[in-house]
Amino acid sequence: MRHIPRKRFGQHFLHDPVVLDRIIDAIRPRAGEQIIEIGPGEGALTARLLEHVPHLTAIEIDRDLAAYLRHTLTAAQLTLHEADALRFDYASLGQDLRIVGNLPYNVSTPLLFVLAEVASQVKDMHFMLQREVVDRMAAAPDTEAYGRLSVALQRRFRVERLFRVAPGSFRPPPKVESAIVRLIPRPHDQLVAVDDALFQRIITQAFSARRKTLRNALAGLITERGLEDLQLGADRRPDTLSPEEYLRVAQYLQTQTPTDQKN
Ligand code: SAM
Repeated sequence: MRHIPRKRFGQHFLHDPVVLDRIIDAIRPRAGEQIIEIGPGEGALTARLLEHVPHLTAIEIDRDLAAYLRHTLTAAQLTLHEADALRFDYASLGQDLRIVGNLPYNVSTPLLFVLAEVASQVKDMHFMLQREVVDRMAAAPDTEAYGRLSVALQRRFRVERLFRVAPGSFRPPPKVESAIVRLIPRPHDQLVAVDDALFQRIITQAFSARRKTLRNALAGLITERGLEDLQLGADRRPDTLSPEEYLRVAQYLQTQTPTDQKN
């Protein structure tokens, strides 16, 4: 088959057997596991995965590629959802999911936010992404790459950068370097329960003013007194707070009544 890659679906097909071997080594798929592949494309990674597991589930948006996969693989090997991974109902897939994929780079950041929400159903995730996105995912506080994505993911997952992949491993080659990343959900008992919408609001507001002081960046959400109660210096910059410190801010706000906040 010679599919003409579609730019709007971020299509860059992996053809390098050495890279495919390294990805499989990193994932170590085993029979009986519930593997979900996002964006199987022409099936390069799918075929390698199927050498280790009898069956997997995939989500592919491109109608032509979905038809091709249905033609080349049997229903016993592949359950294919012709769907948008950004709007997919992951809850319907059950527990202990191992989610993998060479993700479409044009939607990778919103997709990671969607997948962060299903962390409790996930055993682990392995993705190929633009290297710069992997750097942001794994970044430590007080570095250039640290931001909303780092906090949203690290709050729930241990993020491990695995290895880089050069543009020449794809057809057509992307303009950027790529990298493989592994995400492992933190154990349930280590997860701090906070309201997701509130947490998102805090980090969105904080990182849209990352060069300001916390006092100004979080104005309207938490008072200076609140920051003092949390022993967070009001003169610190938002990009110096760890994910745990942002969780403390969210927990604190949840326990405050509106009157407490005015004082
Ligand atoms: N896995 C293949 C490989 O490694 O050669 C293809 C990778 S290509 C970078 C990304 C794949 O994701 C394409 O097959 C594309 O059609 C699919 N895709 C793009 N946007 C998608 C979306 N929103 N939901 C599901 N699949 C999507």
